[in-house]
Amino acid sequence: EAAINRIAAGEVVERPASAVKELVENAIDAGARRIDVSYADGGKTLIRVTDDGCGIAAADLPLALARHATSKIDGTDLLNIHSFGFRGEALPSLGAVGRLTIASRVAGDTAAEITVSGGQMGAVKPAALNSGTIVTLRDLFYATPARLKFMRSDRAEAQAIADVVKRLAMAEPFIGFTLRDVSDGGEGRVIFRADPASGALFDALQGRLARILGRDFTDNALPIQAEREGLMLTGYAALPTYSRGNALAQYLFVNGRPVRDKMLTGALRAAYRDFLSRDRHPVAALFIECEPKLVDVNVHPAKSEVRFRDPGLARGLIVSGLKHALAEAGH
Ligand code: ADP
Ligand code: MG
Repeated sequence: EAAINRIAAGEVVERPASAVKELVENAIDAGARRIDVSYADGGKTLIRVTDDGCGIAAADLPLALARHATSKIDGTDLLNIHSFGFRGEALPSLGAVGRLTIASRVAGDTAAEITVSGGQMGAVKPAALNSGTIVTLRDLFYATPARLKFMRSDRAEAQAIADVVKRLAMAEPFIGFTLRDVSDGGEGRVIFRADPASGALFDALQGRLARILGRDFTDNALPIQAEREGLMLTGYAALPTYSRGNALAQYLFVNGRPVRDKMLTGALRAAYRDFLSRDRHPVAALFIECEPKLVDVNVHPAKSEVRFRDPGLARGLIVSGLKHALAEAGH
């Protein structure tokens, strides 16, 4: 069982940034308004995610750490997934490859914590915290030296963590995020901070994108809004004059989940085909929302690929939505 957990864990948790992604997604699922992420040594020795979400009842703490236990799906309807998490794999995986402590409190209840280390679960103990959850992961991969060897420099791992947090923050402008490097102890160094927005979605999104991608981007970008047969497209896409020499500044989300998908990036490229030479790439942050049954996110444990029931529809939505916005702007 412990060995199975470690093997499965390798699929979900490839590096510190993948642990951060799972923990922040859990915090988003928990309805948090503020999410703080701290790490030390590129996340190798410490990752801590604090949220003010719904919390986990003391009696449910051991359950949250059991493989395939999830509060988010009843198991009969895998294609109808609303929340990020649905496999019930992240916490047990992290508990198998590091020293994991979950401290949590449901509003009006008492706080409790549980620690699992190398797959061995401790007892539920009283804890002290406000309502919400603090997940602390220490010494990632200490039990799997082979994986330890594959980790890159602290700097590279920290960069990957920042990338994950910023991507998730883009899709959640109404949630406040803070990212800190606490390698030197104390309060740490703030790497990224974005206050929770209020007001209308497009304003909130624009403010958040300005914070993450810079005013340069939002000043040179067009708001995008389109709909086709149950697929909604929103976001911002840059004018052709604000292009890049690589495709790194393309941020695509499906139902709030950051994805990397060839079909979607191909559609983005196609929309700009008449305006950009082959070696220039559009900058964009685009969000597709649809009923969960129209898209399968259960493709890879890291959950970054998607499969639309009708890929042509998704492609057409992007191409026509962007072309329309570009035409309106005089292109
Ligand atoms: P999944 O997210 O796929 O359900 P996880 O292993 O990531 O599986 O989490 C297991 C369960 O623990 C979740 O279904 C949820 O009930 C609970 N949980 C995890 N993190 C949090 C959190 N930050 N706040 C509240 N509940 C949480
Ligand atoms: Mg999860």
